[in-house]
Amino acid sequence: MGDSVPVSLSVPPTPPAASGDPSGPRAVDTLLADRGQLFRALFLSAPIGKAVVATDGRLLVVNPALCTLTGRTADELIGRHLDLLAHPDDTPVGDQPGLPVPGRTPLDPHLEVMGERRLQRADGSTLWVQQARELVHRTNGDPHFVVLSLVDVTDRRRAEEDLVRRALTDPLTGLPNRRSLTDRLQHALNISRRRGGPVGLVYLDLDRFKAVNDSLGHEAGDQLLCQVADRLRWSTRVEDTAVRLGADEFLVLAEEVVDVEGLRTLADRLMRVLDDPFHVNDREIVLSASMGLTLTLGQDAAPDALLKQAHGALIRAKANGGRGRIEVHDEALSDGDVDQLQLESDLRHAVDAGELRLYYQPIVALSDERLLGYEALIRWQHPTRGLLPPGAFLEAAENNRLTSKLGAWVLRRACTDAAGWDDDLRVHVNISARHLAEPGFSELVAAALEESGLESGRLELEITESTALFAAEATLRSVSEVTASGVTLALDDFGTGYSAITALHRLPIHTVKIDRSFVADVVTEPSTAALVQGLLQLGQGMGLEVIAEGIEDEEQATWLREHGCTMAQGYAFGRPAPLPAPSTPALPAAG
Ligand code: C2E
Ligand code: CA
Ligand code: CA
Repeated sequence: MGDSVPVSLSVPPTPPAASGDPSGPRAVDTLLADRGQLFRALFLSAPIGKAVVATDGRLLVVNPALCTLTGRTADELIGRHLDLLAHPDDTPVGDQPGLPVPGRTPLDPHLEVMGERRLQRADGSTLWVQQARELVHRTNGDPHFVVLSLVDVTDRRRAEEDLVRRALTDPLTGLPNRRSLTDRLQHALNISRRRGGPVGLVYLDLDRFKAVNDSLGHEAGDQLLCQVADRLRWSTRVEDTAVRLGADEFLVLAEEVVDVEGLRTLADRLMRVLDDPFHVNDREIVLSASMGLTLTLGQDAAPDALLKQAHGALIRAKANGGRGRIEVHDEALSDGDVDQLQLESDLRHAVDAGELRLYYQPIVALSDERLLGYEALIRWQHPTRGLLPPGAFLEAAENNRLTSKLGAWVLRRACTDAAGWDDDLRVHVNISARHLAEPGFSELVAAALEESGLESGRLELEITESTALFAAEATLRSVSEVTASGVTLALDDFGTGYSAITALHRLPIHTVKIDRSFVADVVTEPSTAALVQGLLQLGQGMGLEVIAEGIEDEEQATWLREHGCTMAQGYAFGRPAPLPAPSTPALPAAG
């Protein structure tokens, strides 16, 4: 331990000794006469953590109890500022409002803290202490230093927290309970008001649970509820909170949904999670649930009102003995519908008003970066919102007859543009599943080729795995008519679906495009590297062309080249860009 400090304790004046005391000098006199002993008794061997601290917050002397408490040696503590002990998750003491009292001694803010505070031990664990202090003055009255006492109250604090937790937790399932929901919902609404995103609720009620409970007994019913709770817990994302409201009612609070569709996707997922049979006492039990959904859409909403909306939707879902149904609160729906309808009508207008554009992104040979062709990517030059990427509007087009209007425009435009390029350059066009399934698709392709004069072998249609997988017979026929004419097919986003190989067998695929999500970490993720290697081998084994998408740097390009990939697309070789004015025969430069 470091040097001790000159101590000048203010002690009450010694009362006159009682006359005729047989025990000689009183204990206090002995102690006061020997300051070393006093210091040992009151400070060093005290069972409470104590420190002598300079007014600026530096530790001058510490007792062994404080070392034990903080998990640090005296050498580690002495000379350091009290800040060392503060808990890193707390607001720095200096920033806390109302601490230093103006006009008084400028004590370090840490020394102004009275009462309970959180500290951190050397091993990172949390410590709660009751902090008290005694200010020691110089003989002239100036503050000299502070004797700080820190009493460990961690256990009591834990017990209290445990009580609070128990009050907010459903004892059967361990999920947060209704009381806890109100707090969390209020918190979520506050955040949503600040950041602008919506908050969604999925109110969930098990169908026929009462029948299970009555026939198998309450204990089995409880086990079943626990299993349901587990599935809900594991299938929600971190941003979501699953809550047990009571009996067989649960609720999921979704804080990061984008819109009603996002919330529906979540509800569908929960529905599927409950589809698998449950096992209780060696019996297999099949359950379903009904769900009521609601979403705040920017308007002010009180937690109770939201719960009522979701519950109202649930009642509609269960009406007339309904099972496994999902209903959405009306207002949430109508607002979303308004946006959707607006977007649809704007988009319909956009096609006629010539606001759509095709951007072209180069596809190159990996060996020498020779240009092989371009993929056409749609953009919408919106009059007020600027240039929109397909993600912002394609879904609106998928919901109605716009699909074929938009698809036809893309095909015609792309074929016409490509007809003006060098003869050896090909054009890739993305085709939506919906459009492909429409009657007259093969005729449209034939017409686009004929009108533009583009040779059929220069056109490649890109479809996704799921399109290929779920295509109806009529679609397959339509596709084979198109390919019979010499047009080729590419399977887009290869590897992202769950059945890439089946997709390959269903349709006459010519090229596969390895999805850019794989390329993104092919160099850094060994498991992704192994997967891409597998996809490359699969493609080569089946005699297919393989294009790696989304190559952004030289390292990725080198890796793919070395692993037998021959074609590539990505920012490294050129971003999607508009064609130059028609008078210039040259195409957009990469970059
Ligand atoms: P996709 O067919 O997978 O198109 C590739 C997407 O990846 C394009 O996004 C492109 O800009 C982007 N990309 C290309 N290289 C890189 C790269 O190195 N790094 C990164 N991070 N991204 C890269 P875009 O243009 O936003 O298109 C998105 C999706 O929209 C397309 O995905 C396609 O599925 C769809 N789409 C685009 N145009 C059309 C169209 O005319 N018709 C239909 N039905 N769908 C289209
Ligand atoms: Ca594509
Ligand atoms: Ca793709």
